[in-house]
Amino acid sequence: MLFSELGLSPEVLQGVEAMGYESPTPIQAQSIPAILEGSDIVGASQTGTGKTAAFALPILSLLSGKEGRLRCLVLEPTRELAAQVAEAFTELGKFSKMRSLLVHGGVGYGKQREGLEQGYEIVLATPGRLLDHAAQGAINLKNCDILVLDEVDRMLDMGFLPDVRKIVKMCPEKRQTLLFSATMPAQIDSLAKWALKDPIEVEIGRRRGVAETVTHAFYPVSMDQREGLLMELLSRTDFKSVMIFTRTKADADKLTQIIRTKCDYKVTVLHGDIRQSDREKALKGFRDGTFDVIIATDIAARGLDVSGVTHVINYQVPENPEDYVHRIGRTGRADSEGDAFTILTAPELDFAESIERYVGQKIERRKLENFDYIYTSLLETEKPKPILRVRRGGPKRRRR
Ligand code: AMP
Repeated sequence: MLFSELGLSPEVLQGVEAMGYESPTPIQAQSIPAILEGSDIVGASQTGTGKTAAFALPILSLLSGKEGRLRCLVLEPTRELAAQVAEAFTELGKFSKMRSLLVHGGVGYGKQREGLEQGYEIVLATPGRLLDHAAQGAINLKNCDILVLDEVDRMLDMGFLPDVRKIVKMCPEKRQTLLFSATMPAQIDSLAKWALKDPIEVEIGRRRGVAETVTHAFYPVSMDQREGLLMELLSRTDFKSVMIFTRTKADADKLTQIIRTKCDYKVTVLHGDIRQSDREKALKGFRDGTFDVIIATDIAARGLDVSGVTHVINYQVPENPEDYVHRIGRTGRADSEGDAFTILTAPELDFAESIERYVGQKIERRKLENFDYIYTSLLETEKPKPILRVRRGGPKRRRR
């Protein structure tokens, strides 16, 4: 299938060509014609499948010639995702006249307000800041023909669904709504039923699947050796760029300090307590190769597209199986291969097993050759022999 067969406008096709995309990915081939026809869409897809262009391209096509008013609102759960999607709109829309505006928290209101007054056609926003502007009367959604609710499962995790509902109510009834979510729990299903009209379902691959281009394994170790094993994994791996995920912000900071002092890697850190400008610097530096290691909490796990991440390391097993899939989805994006290592200690065994149930496969346990392991039961490969039952009332006495 070719992009030129999907009904996109000539300016948008020029944008596709400039990006070097040769043929549409499956989610693009399914979504683009449906969106161009004006249908509502519920889309589920694995990370890195080309979902952003699947909605950005037809939106840019549909809006051409409708300049000067806010026509399309895209809601994203995090500032980073909003910025990334804004960039995709700018790149793909290079030859279209549409202008897009980024509206998220952590930065001043002034420029955003000016942009909203000027009537940028496409607004990419996080829910909280958008509602702030609405409360100040700075945003008018009555001409918003197209509403995109992206990464809705993440919005649910972050407690944004009530805000999303408020924003939906501010849009005109007659509109096109596109909803994307990797998973579809009951609350999202009911949001979709309420906000969408006769949606077409687009689902690519297994909903819970791990991207096929990623190989992944658990590395069992005793708790005292977690840090040592991480250092060993880093030194033995020929990586170009690695993302290390920690469960808490404090762990991310601590690990960053340790790696900075003990190793030569160019390391940076990304989590919710870091100032917005520093978060941007960290991501930009990681993207352009200034840093080769980024240590992050789950804020960075969802949807962020950093091309060329060769390795992902989970410093702890994520508690939520969906986070595992999202985290390791940072590598192996588009067609490139990736490796994901997860350090596993005994208290995390339940989380590991629930991940295996979730992804529907047993995940390989690997041991590092010549690493001086302290004993942990996790490293036992043979099943323990059954313990002999002791009779109640103590051992039977032999009769004389
Ligand atoms: P996404 O799933 O939207 O985060 O996209 C993942 C990556 O795939 C991004 O770097 C896109 O630029 C890239 N991409 C999207 N569509 C295509 C395509 N049709 N051909 C090649 N790369 C693509």
